[in-house]
Amino acid sequence: MTVLKASVKKATKKQPLRGMMDNVMEQFNSAADHINLHPNIRKILSITNNEILVNFPVKMDNGDVEIFTGYRVQHNSALGPYKGGLRYHPTVDLDAARALAMWMTWKTSLAGLPYGGGKGGIKIDPSKYSESELERITRRFTYALADNIGPEHDIPAPDVNTNSQTMAWIADTYMSTRPPAQRTANQHVVTGKPDGSGGLEGRDRATGFGVYLTIKFWAEKNNIDLKGKKYIVQGFGNVGYWASLFLEKDGAKLVAVQDAYGSIQNQNGLNVKNLFDYAKLNKGSIVDFPNSESLDKDDFFAVDCDICIPAALGNQITKENAPKIKANLIAEGANGPTNVDGERILLERGIAIIPDILCNSGGVIGSYFEWLQNRNGEIWHLEEVMDKLSKKLRGSFNKVFDYSEREDIDTRTAAFCIAIERIEKAYVQRGIFP
Ligand code: GLU
Repeated sequence: MTVLKASVKKATKKQPLRGMMDNVMEQFNSAADHINLHPNIRKILSITNNEILVNFPVKMDNGDVEIFTGYRVQHNSALGPYKGGLRYHPTVDLDAARALAMWMTWKTSLAGLPYGGGKGGIKIDPSKYSESELERITRRFTYALADNIGPEHDIPAPDVNTNSQTMAWIADTYMSTRPPAQRTANQHVVTGKPDGSGGLEGRDRATGFGVYLTIKFWAEKNNIDLKGKKYIVQGFGNVGYWASLFLEKDGAKLVAVQDAYGSIQNQNGLNVKNLFDYAKLNKGSIVDFPNSESLDKDDFFAVDCDICIPAALGNQITKENAPKIKANLIAEGANGPTNVDGERILLERGIAIIPDILCNSGGVIGSYFEWLQNRNGEIWHLEEVMDKLSKKLRGSFNKVFDYSEREDIDTRTAAFCIAIERIEKAYVQRGIFP
């Protein structure tokens, strides 16, 4: 807790937003303090194991060569192979990849998976490149990463601006560069592949479905009926879309959406499927959706609603907008959407939070099922996947909320404590080489 207090004092209006790494470290230290984590293990978990940076050339459609920078940070593998997404975004850098890799370590541990945490990506605005350029960039990135990834070593997956197509290119490139007899046995080098190429039925909706389920569990716990409840969603990509669709099916009403291009609202409700189809035809943008009003970017979080789902980037709920939030519940579809200052205000205001490492863990749980499916040469079906996912998320949800009540701590700290304790146990049992 001393860490939190010290940084409050230092924060002044002129200071830029804290980096994601500062946030994840403050979250980690609060939990480590709470469980009295052994100083040696705190040291180990405070740093990343490996940080891979690759610069690689790619020929553009016009014949020019462009150099790209890609990252893969492997935070910790005490519980199993590194696991986590690859994002294509201008904000990708070493600091962001480190923080996101750490969050993956806590997320996989909390979910009880046999994985560690990793994250990476390319510093790029993918909207500026053609499909064939993106394919060459992805394949060249995979080639540059070489044996730094692998089905039993480090298993990437989709993240911001990457999808099943990106994963298919990675899998194909990785498999094609293995010796012939090992090619097909390496299909599980990535998860989130298309379902015709070793992908898991339902992996596309796993994260959004998980976000919806944790909201549903929370509502049940608090005797709240989701019917008629208003929700707002930041980010209308894979996570935001699927979470919205499932909530709408339960009778909740989507009243505002923000994406990278703008913000829209309609207090009478926005039809989720129509909005998705509209955005698809509108270069991915929700702007000017019929029967909606546009909204100033800074007013988005102040929209009247019951549930707020940040499902885009990190550092979005801050001390500037947290006082204006109307929702009673924040369900974190994104990784690190609430920074430490923003969270403090939410907690003071009694707003509930389903923390990212729980709320969006349906994605990596789905990835685990895909990995098992590939490893075992099986094909799982949608119903089975959704059923297994629901059971697993129910278990994690109960653990976090029970811990939080028992120990009288906020839900994020509770989730971190559970995750860290599992990793601590592995270190205590195995010791440290040599
Ligand atoms: N990118 C997703 C996440 O942040 C999924 C990771 C995975 O499936 O490995 O959790």
